Amino acid sequence: MSTTDGVFFIPEMSTDQRVRVFRRKFGDMEEFDGMEVDAYIVITERYVVVFDTLLCPEDASAMVQMVKDQLSGRQLLVVNSHADWDHCWGNSYFTSGRAAPIIAHEYCLTRMLSDEARQELLDFQQRHTIFQNVALAPPTMTFKQRFTIVGGDLSIELIPAPGHHPDHIAVWIPELSLLLAFDAIEKPLPILENAEAVPSMFATLERLLALQPKRVLCSHGKSTSVALVEENLAYFREIERRSHELLQRHHPTNEELEHASEIIHYSYDEVIAGAKEPFDRTFYVGAHDANVLFLLQWLMRKRGDA
Ligand SMILES: [Zn+2]
Repeated sequence: MSTTDGVFFIPEMSTDQRVRVFRRKFGDMEEFDGMEVDAYIVITERYVVVFDTLLCPEDASAMVQMVKDQLSGRQLLVVNSHADWDHCWGNSYFTSGRAAPIIAHEYCLTRMLSDEARQELLDFQQRHTIFQNVALAPPTMTFKQRFTIVGGDLSIELIPAPGHHPDHIAVWIPELSLLLAFDAIEKPLPILENAEAVPSMFATLERLLALQPKRVLCSHGKSTSVALVEENLAYFREIERRSHELLQRHHPTNEELEHASEIIHYSYDEVIAGAKEPFDRTFYVGAHDANVLFLLQWLMRKRGDA
């Protein structure tokens, strides 16, 4: 597969002309079989705002080409939801001759300047040709608490939403009651960074629910469902409940913790029961096990027994 033919405009994901949804299939990367990621462009009176830049500069270029009739008279802005590769490796399209401000949480800048980020890019470039033109292009404007883009007809509020990662943000557009949740919400399940991130994830999901969105988009899983926010929260509460139950009667060994979902009797199949669409099983089985492990570790630390 070439680098550009994987980006598609998905009109059915949006009910408002000003919000355009784009989807990138991961394509030929075996370890992410069937995975895809969405990015958005929101067109306001003053600005055209690109939310996430997908996998490579060619992806960002493809998205911008699809809205080029909207660029005249409007400033182009870029927002990164967080520093994960599938959300910001197209950033370099917006440098040099096409420079646009890249806005993100200040920790996103730290992550993109890190040795880990450089190493990860080198690793991916060795394995997949689609990353050959990727250069890390860190954010150029950062915030910590909240950032508002006053677009004229639409205002766009960038709000911290940690849990998946500490630099993760969500976007709230009050005029449309639209929440762009990125990886804070995910179908079939969101992904915790580690045990320390557990309270942040609960707080983020509660906070997003309190916004009372009428529409929610997230980066993975093709969902526009508002109910998914509640389902994701219920999923973590269920892990918490079963973990708590286990810890009342048993202190798990390290060996048992390697199969965390088994010891709390909450299998991946139970989590996705009723879902009709296919998910990348290997990926999400691993993610679910890790989520349970982190919840257990967090509870054990809280109880003071680990
Ligand atoms: Zn992601």
